[in-house]
Amino acid sequence: MSADHPTVTQSLPLLDTFAFSQSSLQAYADCARRFWLAYVEQLPWPAIEASPVQEHEAHMRLGSTFHLLVQRAEVGIDPERLSDGLAAPLAGWFSAYLRHRPTDLPTHFVEVERVLTIPFPNAPAGSVGVAGQPPYRLAAKYDLIAAEPDGRVVIIDWKTTRRRTDPATLRQRLQTLVYPYLLVEASAAFPWGPVQPEQVEMRYWFTAAPSQPVTIRHDRPRHEAAHERLHQLLAQILAGRSEADFPKVADTPINRKRFCDYCIYRSRCNRGVMAGDVSEVGDADDFFAVDPDTALEFTLEDLPELAF
Ligand code: SF4
Repeated sequence: MSADHPTVTQSLPLLDTFAFSQSSLQAYADCARRFWLAYVEQLPWPAIEASPVQEHEAHMRLGSTFHLLVQRAEVGIDPERLSDGLAAPLAGWFSAYLRHRPTDLPTHFVEVERVLTIPFPNAPAGSVGVAGQPPYRLAAKYDLIAAEPDGRVVIIDWKTTRRRTDPATLRQRLQTLVYPYLLVEASAAFPWGPVQPEQVEMRYWFTAAPSQPVTIRHDRPRHEAAHERLHQLLAQILAGRSEADFPKVADTPINRKRFCDYCIYRSRCNRGVMAGDVSEVGDADDFFAVDPDTALEFTLEDLPELAF
């Protein structure tokens, strides 16, 4: 299948068990063709053709190890044991976590690496025009959820990006919409739920600036706006039938620099041969190099066990 010979389908060929995530929705919002290639065609990762990709992968692996260390520390394993033998940059990141873990987090309920899912479209039933189709699910994996019985909830996302992301950028990210929205909608099933939007805050914590986390408070207007935006995106995606319905982002110098230079599909899309310089990527989320195994993690058979 190529961009010149688009495939036409009767309906969008997503698996019934496909779960939308902030990553797939962000991919669609950034460039509809990305969504098509990554999540509908599930195009395998192209050959590694540039060192920035390998560099990025190495950084992502370190990030995964950091998350594992924090996860173990959060469940009570002795941090000294965990620190033993760590090399840079992990040693520095973990030390920053130990010195700057937020001290004001709720302590009654602490959930680590928790997956939550809700039906998508979410109630009210029939609010999105997908008659006859079972609802998909919206899923998110949370680094840490800390809650009090009175309903105060803090969501923490540990970031190992090279730089602290600008708060205005974070506010625009679909992760900032999806995580609090989904948590509120799923919260009735928790011992500390249900919670109201005003009781929830999303906090991004950075190894690059551990004393300067970014906090974004959720509230009812944001919650309703999130519902609207997410369902609009879903309706647009499900209205697509073929590759042609998922156009490439406009070919402008700014879009090439912002999206295509860091996208694994740029050769296929004729949007340049050389990868962007990974050292210029402030946030790993800007580097679109989705690994289908990871991107589709929520389509695994274990989803029903995790679902609310
Ligand atoms: S290379 Fe550019 S146009 Fe192609 S999928 Fe990636 S972001 Fe979209």
